[in-house]
Amino acid sequence: MEWEAVIGLEIHTQLATKSKIFSGASTAYGAEPNTQACAVDLGLPGVLPVLNEEAVRMAVLFGLAIEAEIAPYSIFARKNYFYPDLPKGYQISQFELPIVGLGHLDIDVDGVKKRIGVTRAHLEEDAGKSLHEDFHGLTGIDLNRAGTPLLEIVSEPDMRSAKEAVAYMRKLHELVRYLGICDGNMQEGSFRCDANVSVRPKGQQAFGTRAEIKNINSFKFVEKAINYEIERQIDLIESGGAVVQETRLYDAAKDQTRSMRSKEEANDYRYFPDPDLLPVVVDEAFKAQVKTTMPELPDAKKQRFKEQYGLDEESTAILTSSRPLADYFEIVVKESACEARICANWVTGDLLAALNRSGLEISDSPVSHERLAGLLARISDDTISGKIAKQVFEEMWQGTASADEIIEAKGLKQITDTGAIEAIIDKIIADNPGQVEQYRSGKDKVFGFFVGQVMKEMQGKANPGEVNKMLKDKLK
Ligand code: ADP
Ligand code: MG
Repeated sequence: MEWEAVIGLEIHTQLATKSKIFSGASTAYGAEPNTQACAVDLGLPGVLPVLNEEAVRMAVLFGLAIEAEIAPYSIFARKNYFYPDLPKGYQISQFELPIVGLGHLDIDVDGVKKRIGVTRAHLEEDAGKSLHEDFHGLTGIDLNRAGTPLLEIVSEPDMRSAKEAVAYMRKLHELVRYLGICDGNMQEGSFRCDANVSVRPKGQQAFGTRAEIKNINSFKFVEKAINYEIERQIDLIESGGAVVQETRLYDAAKDQTRSMRSKEEANDYRYFPDPDLLPVVVDEAFKAQVKTTMPELPDAKKQRFKEQYGLDEESTAILTSSRPLADYFEIVVKESACEARICANWVTGDLLAALNRSGLEISDSPVSHERLAGLLARISDDTISGKIAKQVFEEMWQGTASADEIIEAKGLKQITDTGAIEAIIDKIIADNPGQVEQYRSGKDKVFGFFVGQVMKEMQGKANPGEVNKMLKDKLK
């Protein structure tokens, strides 16, 4: 039988607010355990939570970006359960009335476009963290993360393959970083995914029973976990079994999922509206104000880059993968007056390679956009060749000098003085009668030898176009 997978994702994005969702404690990552959890985060008696407006603003910005309905009225509820990293005994979340309603996100898999529905996105607080290592059989509890704002984004079960799921997740990852509402750092847990997976015979309308794979924190693992799960469910059904609704964990070391708890053991969370928090009212004026802060979104930027700069699909995808990189590129084009395609090659090629080698982000690039523009300007006005430019770039990477300073100090200016080039060519021809003979008897390949010799003699500084032209003449 032919099977079809059905996938829906729940993605937790940590909102990039400075303080927590209901308290003034810092959300900064990496502090000493339990130094950033205050009485409100712990739910101690006698304190009251106060909603962080910035978290609401970020949720609304996200909702507007996916063309979703923004709820004019939403409420916070208590989700009650016991766990050591949740000392107050409940998590504040939105249940019945989430702040962001139905919206959508468009993905592209191997050139095929598809619209994925976003069911809802709701605000909630994160719990603390249980640390199982370093405590010799005991468990440490770090409550710094307690009360950190999360936006949980729930998709419709619209995806049909692991590839589509990863494309959706990447698209969302790009979007929240563009919006500046999440740093997207997956290692630190700022962006994590629960994948719901079921299978059904191809052509059947009704969905099969789903399993939910919890807390997957990389694109690669999402793809692997879903593919493993699809295979597992098909094998199970084909051998006469049935999928049970349950929560599963992905074990990356073994590349398999295993059962964590079944639905029967699942908690009844006894949700009820939090009596300490007022309903959230988002009026038209607030929405309009948030809208004025909307940046150019990834799809629009991609389209514009192709049209305005004449770039291909691949360079466009790389350059628009983050706003800082796209901005860097645009400034270089503007300041260098160099052809956009050459600028794109430099940014996606030499610059990104150097950044990768050094493990740096574009915002920490030792070569700023002004300095790269200064270099590319010298290519476009023929002061140096592309080859020499690579040498200058290396020097720029190591130090702080500008391209002009390096070109001047090292005497790298391209030689366009035809007299000087001619003298060298004459000398090379005189010194290599054998090769001249070969060339003249039809061995065109030897031409490269002459170009190489001339360039070597002139330390790469001769204008390559000029050298080619003169050599052709002289070797006739
Ligand atoms: P819960 O709150 O129990 O996790 P939801 O109804 O909110 O359940 O669904 C969670 C996610 O599961 C959503 O992303 C949804 O698209 C997805 N989902 C629901 N049913 C299925 C199914 N049969 N197969 C795959 N995914 C599903
Ligand atoms: Mg769920």
